[in-house]
Amino acid sequence: MVSRGSLSCFREIKRVAIFGGTHGNEMSGVTLVNMWLKNSAEVERNGVFTRPFITNPKAVEKCCRYIDTDLNRAFTPENLSTPGGDGLPYEVQRAKEINQIFGPKGSPDAYDVIFDLHNTTSNMGSTLILESSTDHFNLQMVHYIKKAMVPESCMVLLNEHPNLKYATSRSVAKHPVGLEVGPQPQGVLRSNIFESMRTILKHALDFIELFNSGVEFPACSVEVFRVHERMDYPRDTNGNITAMVHPHLQDCDWEPLNPGDPMFQTFDGRTILFEGGSPVYPTFINEAAYYEKQQAFITTRRETLAASAIRKNSK
Ligand SMILES: [Zn+2]
Repeated sequence: MVSRGSLSCFREIKRVAIFGGTHGNEMSGVTLVNMWLKNSAEVERNGVFTRPFITNPKAVEKCCRYIDTDLNRAFTPENLSTPGGDGLPYEVQRAKEINQIFGPKGSPDAYDVIFDLHNTTSNMGSTLILESSTDHFNLQMVHYIKKAMVPESCMVLLNEHPNLKYATSRSVAKHPVGLEVGPQPQGVLRSNIFESMRTILKHALDFIELFNSGVEFPACSVEVFRVHERMDYPRDTNGNITAMVHPHLQDCDWEPLNPGDPMFQTFDGRTILFEGGSPVYPTFINEAAYYEKQQAFITTRRETLAASAIRKNSK
């Protein structure tokens, strides 16, 4: 990237990957990628090599989240630099293979953009996940997608939290983008969720084609929800949960949770209130996959990011 004043120039986008099945039971991404592997016409754009790819085929086959360990946490520098071998967990082995094909992570040889397709059981609607507030290419792309989706909304979750950020599959790319669409139960396909995901990807690829054609995108602002805190369920001394997400909070992803608002409901009907000092915006509320991660929901704070103007580097 070259910055001149408020204009950032990026190289042409040549290689794009679309990952499905990073979690093997998230069916929209699995189904779309399998469909595009058979016929990729829909995801092809002028001058761009687009590669649909199933990242965790064994988990897809079994229709489970993962075999040994969460692939979407496995792309750590330690894992990627360990020598290969039969003793490694399947997903660590797989992360190393994916890093060979689409990376190496952090190198000039890495793919330009990776879209990683996920479903959530939470009522999050269409969500794009970014890992950096200073990647102006990605900020412009999500701005374009949000505008193209109107009147439907498309939220942007920003996870650059020093402790809560994790080593995702998409992090191999120069510009990593997560798609998280729900609510959809694990192992289930819902047509509305499938179509939303497909539409987001269409707009994203259109943006890349426009960018490559030399269009300059003017400076803009993007509303994002920045990951703030992980909230666990109340638990007893044995670690078992003692309460559920409160009915007033259930399905209210992205709506403000104010101090004193109901947060959990114990099994005997008692209400536990949110005691934070200021309003937060919860999301991933009651996500099925996060019980094992001791997470009932995450809180976010809303902020507006400035995206500089961008265009293709003329060289
Ligand atoms: Zn997932």
